[in-house]
Amino acid sequence: VVEIRDLRRSFTQGGVTIDVLRGVDLRIGKGEIVALLGPSGSGKSTMLQAVGLLEGGFEGSIRIGGKEAAQLDARGRTEMRREMLGFVYQFHHLLPDFNAQENVVLPQLIHGATRADADARAEKLLGALGLSQRLAHRPSQLSGGEQQRVAVARALATQPALVLADEPTGNLDEATADVVLAEFLRLVREEGSSALVATHNERLAKQMDRIVRLHEGHLE
Ligand code: ATP
Ligand code: MG
Repeated sequence: VVEIRDLRRSFTQGGVTIDVLRGVDLRIGKGEIVALLGPSGSGKSTMLQAVGLLEGGFEGSIRIGGKEAAQLDARGRTEMRREMLGFVYQFHHLLPDFNAQENVVLPQLIHGATRADADARAEKLLGALGLSQRLAHRPSQLSGGEQQRVAVARALATQPALVLADEPTGNLDEATADVVLAEFLRLVREEGSSALVATHNERLAKQMDRIVRLHEGHLE
């Protein structure tokens, strides 16, 4: 369960302050998949960065799995991020010198898994995404859709309480985006994780459990 209360984030640049998030409240149930919509510049990525504990410049409360993030320092945030969160970005951000399986194994090793368990889980996740024949391929040897599937497997590798996705299929053609998104949703559901997915795409958002919209710094 994720509980976000009165989340605020401002940026000051060249003497001008913009209040991007002006008191955002959101509760995400266990296993619930929430679509985050809103026009360009409305603060979707800003919200995912705050909830993803990638930076500490927010005010308000972020509770994930019963743990409060607000008072944590950078080190505490990193620890909580590794323990609780998985990420999928528009561009895959896979490690170019590691193959598909290794990209899914590494976060598990950081998380404390044994190599054998991590290998087995990577094979299971990549297999569930149709990539059993691509385990030894490096990112540059994979298609865009395959790369995003590896990124999906990596995000779920450590059984995160919450998966954060920022335009996870925004880089793919429409047909591929549909297939990869459907696989992403199926796998998140199978794994029992919650998810918050930022997207411009209303059609894709409708396949999720609930839609929330950012408008003028608030969710509606
Ligand atoms: P898009 O749909 O185009 O990805 P978005 O909803 O994700 O847009 P954000 O990237 O969250 O929007 O940006 C929201 C606002 O915050 C923008 O006006 C942007 O200029 C501002 N902003 C974001 N990051 C920073 C930063 N590091 N410093 C200053 N301003 C920022
Ligand atoms: Mg964005």
